[in-house]
Amino acid sequence: MIRFDYADPGTLAEASALLLAHGDEASLMAGGTDLLVEIKEQLRRPRLVIDLKRIAGLDQLAVDADGALRLGALVTSRRIETDARVRAHWPGLHQALSELGSIQVRHRATVVGNICRASPSADALPPLIADGAALHLHGPKGDREVALEDFFTGPGRTVLGPGEIVLQVRVPPLPLPLQAGRAYIKHGRRKAMELATVGVATCLALAADGRVAEVRIALGAVAPTPVRARAAERALLGERPSDALLAQAGELAMRESRPIDNVRASAAYRREMVGVLTRRVLQQALVRARGTPPARVSA
Ligand SMILES: Cc1cc2nc3c(=O)[nH]c(=O)nc-3n(C[C@H](O)[C@H](O)[C@H](O)COP(=O)(O)OP(=O)(O)OC[C@H]3O[C@@H](n4cnc5c(N)ncnc54)[C@H](O)[C@@H]3O)c2cc1C
Repeated sequence: MIRFDYADPGTLAEASALLLAHGDEASLMAGGTDLLVEIKEQLRRPRLVIDLKRIAGLDQLAVDADGALRLGALVTSRRIETDARVRAHWPGLHQALSELGSIQVRHRATVVGNICRASPSADALPPLIADGAALHLHGPKGDREVALEDFFTGPGRTVLGPGEIVLQVRVPPLPLPLQAGRAYIKHGRRKAMELATVGVATCLALAADGRVAEVRIALGAVAPTPVRARAAERALLGERPSDALLAQAGELAMRESRPIDNVRASAAYRREMVGVLTRRVLQQALVRARGTPPARVSA
């Protein structure tokens, strides 16, 4: 382990000022399950680690009156995974978090840390992108909102500017009276303690006549950043789902992925799995959408 200084500021302004002053030599820390491993393996050598845990107000998990879900930067994966509202209304996110690492890891790991690490295979990203999530950032120039799908610029790289900190993730509600179904499937070589070889998530909403009124499909681990399968989404929009249509969506998603060969799988295998998983994830979301009467999630 290399030596580094440690700061645990009590306010956001202090944390942001420290980050700005130390530039690339400082790293923020939430749960530390990515950062400390990277430091130990000497993949990162910060001179200063800025721990966010003493800053008040970052640990909120809330459902707003309009049905939006808000997750503060210090909310752990385990807290979200065990929340009954998340389990009932955001099953894609729930599924992703219940398969992230181990229970011990999930007790420390935050969803915002998972996002800011910007790994293409990070489990929380596909379901949150499929749900249309946005991030609230705080920095020296003020606050701003960024759509999660626009946050990533490459593996480990994001649009965060100097001194900027992610404060929370907001998952918007779907407009009523749509019936929504959400799902995430992680594919790996093992059942547990495994990073995704491919991860596919969707959020799909049906109109009263059974046609697809809204759909987002997000693919993980098959491109330098998580990506939307937009051609597949376009094929589904306005249509009544059938087996043939879901198979076509799977084919289109395969063509939109840009996987690489690595130790976990070949690019060809990953592409093939995108087709299979897209079809399956859409089937799961459809079953959920058809079985869920439209309702606002109560706070
Ligand atoms: C044994 C093990 C198994 C794992 N399994 C999985 C898995 O199956 N799936 C998976 O996706 N991940 C997995 N991970 C990775 C890790 O646990 C997650 O990415 C976790 O969610 C990171 O959250 P954290 O709070 O620990 O982040 P930290 O390590 O504290 O931070 C991660 C990165 O985000 C930055 N950061 C943190 N908070 C903020 C903020 N508020 N604003 C700006 N930047 C910030 C940090 O500077 C750092 O670069 C595993 C890790 C371990 C050690």
